[in-house]
Amino acid sequence: MAADARRMIAELRDLARLTGDERGAQRLAWTDTWARAREWERGLLAELPVEVDRDEAGNLWATLPGRAPETLIIGSHIDSVPNGGWLDGCLGVLSALEVLRSLSADGPPPLTVRLVDWADEEGARFGLSLLGSMAAAGQHDPDLVRRLRDAGGVGAADALAAHGVDVDRMGEARSRLTDAVAYLELHIEQGPVLEARGLPLAVVTGVYGTERWAARFTGQAAHAGSTPMDQRRDALSAAARLALEVRELARNRGGVGTVGRIDAEPGIPTAVAGIATALVDQRHVAIDTLRELHEAAVEAGRTIAADEHVEVEWSPLFRVPPIDFDADMVAAASTIVTDLQGADARLPSGPLHDAARVAEAGVPAVMLFVRSKRGLSHTREEDTDEADLELALAALERMVSGELERRG
Ligand SMILES: [Zn+2]
Repeated sequence: MAADARRMIAELRDLARLTGDERGAQRLAWTDTWARAREWERGLLAELPVEVDRDEAGNLWATLPGRAPETLIIGSHIDSVPNGGWLDGCLGVLSALEVLRSLSADGPPPLTVRLVDWADEEGARFGLSLLGSMAAAGQHDPDLVRRLRDAGGVGAADALAAHGVDVDRMGEARSRLTDAVAYLELHIEQGPVLEARGLPLAVVTGVYGTERWAARFTGQAAHAGSTPMDQRRDALSAAARLALEVRELARNRGGVGTVGRIDAEPGIPTAVAGIATALVDQRHVAIDTLRELHEAAVEAGRTIAADEHVEVEWSPLFRVPPIDFDADMVAAASTIVTDLQGADARLPSGPLHDAARVAEAGVPAVMLFVRSKRGLSHTREEDTDEADLELALAALERMVSGELERRG
């Protein structure tokens, strides 16, 4: 029996109706709407010969016992951002459900197969993304989670407790990856690359690493009217030049580079800025290139500072290395994608995904991206053609059977 894309699409639309409004999806993790989505999900799973339970971190699991304890995991997340789209996360969960349906109709598979719905991928309420998959990957930090508060001042520990999760025990979710031999995740691309290439699917090769730093330029605040142009030590001009340089670096060497904010002091129209702090975010899939990009930005900052007669100082904000997905799984998935759409396509992922945490825990993992219309996501305008969704489900199903054959 093959996975049924029509049914999956109908269920995605049911979920959108059930847990969204005119502004979009409202399944923020640790809210009633999210719990309602999961109740509905459990209702669908109840029709299958699977064991459903939740781990200590609130991740929802459905296990189809196989002929061996080694486990292949398929999943994503059903939580959403506020005013989210109808596919982000839930596509990965409902496609996994459809694959489970198809597998369970054929008797026990060679390996145990589990669906996972990760808790709080988005971090929309407390600002910490990938909460559930981090716990399963052995990266849970109870003190960090305890310090988190939502916009209304509610502490994360209380909100989690209201959904039956004890912050001190979340790390025990780690045991769920013990038998895992492979992890697969289907997700919308959330960017415009596949649309520009005219292709529905891509295999994700890995996830960008990030170098995020604050570059603080210090010059001399002075009167905007009385200070001649050649006697200024203008920190804001230096920061602005750095922003353009960061953009140029990414254009020339690949990856992405952004200065998303510059704070200037005194920050008034009648004064030359004495201090300006630029927030620099650089991402690349190769660790060496990422390091070079950061070093080149620092070097550019030094040259600009000398030129503008200001000082510059860098301080780190967030640094995470790139994550490579499993080379064999990427190759196997590429063969399937090439066969289905007549062309190979491989992409690194800019956004982080649960799959990255699983890969970091040492489980071979791969992701499949399906084209997003206009590259839009985290908005109700997020959309993907039904024909693309159908092809994506077919690809995922073949990836799963391929892995079961290879490892079973
Ligand atoms: Zn997502």
